[in-house]
Amino acid sequence: MHSDLIGKIEKARRYAEEPERIALDEITVRFHGGNNDHRVRLVDGRWTCDCEVFHLRGVCAHVMTLQKVLAPMLSADAREPGPVIIHSELISMIEKSRRYAHELDRIEIQALRARFRGNNNDHVLTLNASGWLCDCSTFRVWHTCAHVMALQRILAPMLPAVAREPGAMSIEEHLVGALS
Ligand SMILES: [Zn+2]
Ligand SMILES: [Zn+2]
Repeated sequence: MHSDLIGKIEKARRYAEEPERIALDEITVRFHGGNNDHRVRLVDGRWTCDCEVFHLRGVCAHVMTLQKVLAPMLSADAREPGPVIIHSELISMIEKSRRYAHELDRIEIQALRARFRGNNNDHVLTLNASGWLCDCSTFRVWHTCAHVMALQRILAPMLPAVAREPGAMSIEEHLVGALS
């Protein structure tokens, strides 16, 4: 059994180097901006943010930051730049989002839904307040799997503490210790 799980952990490490296997369909983020927190969402390939700039312009530094940080996992629609806006505003948004992209602790992923292209099958993963779920058979047994572990690695700095936990078994840490 352990050797099976060690295999999954090695697979998760490889998968974490291949974020293009992951297609993010939905995500909800709390973004700690300069002054306030904002709620940013992606649904059906369209971004929304509750900040004032987004309300006025249909684009903002928060959305631009997430587009940059999550790029390999986004659909073409979700990568589209927002509507054309006043040049000087755009420049300042770009500068801000560049800075934010290096400050990943500003971003807290609260929920997501993603498809994962595995070696054999595709899987659907979700994260919400009660934790991770994956539709693969390993997850059913271990409450974690290579897909969840890979996503945990990729998104680590942006995940709340509860979503960084190694799963009900607490077994990954244990085994990683044994492996290294
Ligand atoms: Zn915003
Ligand atoms: Zn899985």
